[in-house]
Amino acid sequence: MSANPDTVLTTDLDIDALRADFPILHQEVNGRPLAYLDNAASAQRPRQVIDAVSHYYGSDHANVHRGVHTLSQRATDAFEGARTKVRRFINARSDKEIIWTRGTTEAINLVAQSWGRPRLGEGDEILITWLEHHANIVPWQIVCEQTGARLVVTPMDDTGQIRLDEFERLLGPKTRLVALGHVSNALGTVNPVHHVIAMAKERGVPVLLDGAQAVPHMTVDVQDLDCDFYAFSGHKMFGPTGIGVLYGRESILADMPPWQGGGDMILAVGFDETVYNELPWKFEAGTPNIAGAVGLGAAVDYLDSVGMSNIARREATLLEHATRVLEEVPGLRIIGTAPGKAAVISFILEGIHPHDIGTIVDHEGIAIRTGHHCAMPVMEYFGVPATARASFAFYNTEEEADRLAEALVKTREMFA
Ligand code: PMP
Repeated sequence: MSANPDTVLTTDLDIDALRADFPILHQEVNGRPLAYLDNAASAQRPRQVIDAVSHYYGSDHANVHRGVHTLSQRATDAFEGARTKVRRFINARSDKEIIWTRGTTEAINLVAQSWGRPRLGEGDEILITWLEHHANIVPWQIVCEQTGARLVVTPMDDTGQIRLDEFERLLGPKTRLVALGHVSNALGTVNPVHHVIAMAKERGVPVLLDGAQAVPHMTVDVQDLDCDFYAFSGHKMFGPTGIGVLYGRESILADMPPWQGGGDMILAVGFDETVYNELPWKFEAGTPNIAGAVGLGAAVDYLDSVGMSNIARREATLLEHATRVLEEVPGLRIIGTAPGKAAVISFILEGIHPHDIGTIVDHEGIAIRTGHHCAMPVMEYFGVPATARASFAFYNTEEEADRLAEALVKTREMFA
């Protein structure tokens, strides 16, 4: 795929051509063609990303920053060039606002420790929602323990949508930060983030969005969202593992102390005084994941070439089809039915443990995820220990959804 994004915005995607970009999809698993429906856990990489990482290691690798030799300069250009690509992709104002992390989890921990810990005190509140991934719960619990602050949780309804009336009520004079997922990994709910941010802004409360499940599937514009922090992971957006991003509003980042110390995050070190580096490097101690950043830059190029609005449209069509065929499976109940949700279908099959479902459909070459999806409170809310979850990417097909439905009918028959 090398089309210009502007030329593909209104074109239907050529799924066969796109699938040809993903070598891993073309294999048999247990004697059946692989149907990879576990994209919310980690998506697959196109050849363009694999080639970019391979080229980097084969031709350009050296440590970055302040090296005078050619390879170091090439590595630095590739590393910082990737930052610029990511900045453009989410429409941040400046490269200073793009901090490389290991992923969403590390990005949220960075905010909890660097923004939260020095500011929070006894009685202060962090407002989250019932829908959060553990990565957007536990870092706040840790900082609450450290500071005496309190975690406040917005409830949700039976469709898996947050209760906006409750959110408004809980957003009080003690709320210091709102932190919520843009899209839920367990249910696919797309949260009304514009509305939530507007309410928080009215009261002068900053907002962090966990964008791990949003960035691969829709256009994300941090200026339009007007959020203060936005966290996401490379491996869910067709890039490498071990690399992710914290976007932070420059004025807020400038006011935050470093959260880890070491090389690269300093300008000068003395035993009496150390001068920290400028943004964004102040938050990037030690040798970074250079190849990861390069690969993520290539993933962003790839997503641009496909077109995010094409991807969103394609996935909505897939979701509609998959929902229809899965609803026809006897005894199947979909958990999470919010309107306009992302292409994630969490479900249970009456009388069959989700792990058994996952194992049986794997025999048919179908990869789905089973478990609590790092969202135990969501499972608790719906009164289930776990669900099975099929999560789609643009490269999935209607036929793969049909195969899943057929495999589930067989599973049901086995347990009858
Ligand atoms: N938040 C959400 C909504 C997620 O889906 C995930 C990954 N499942 C994370 C955070 C954590 O991402 P990572 O493990 O890449 O840090």
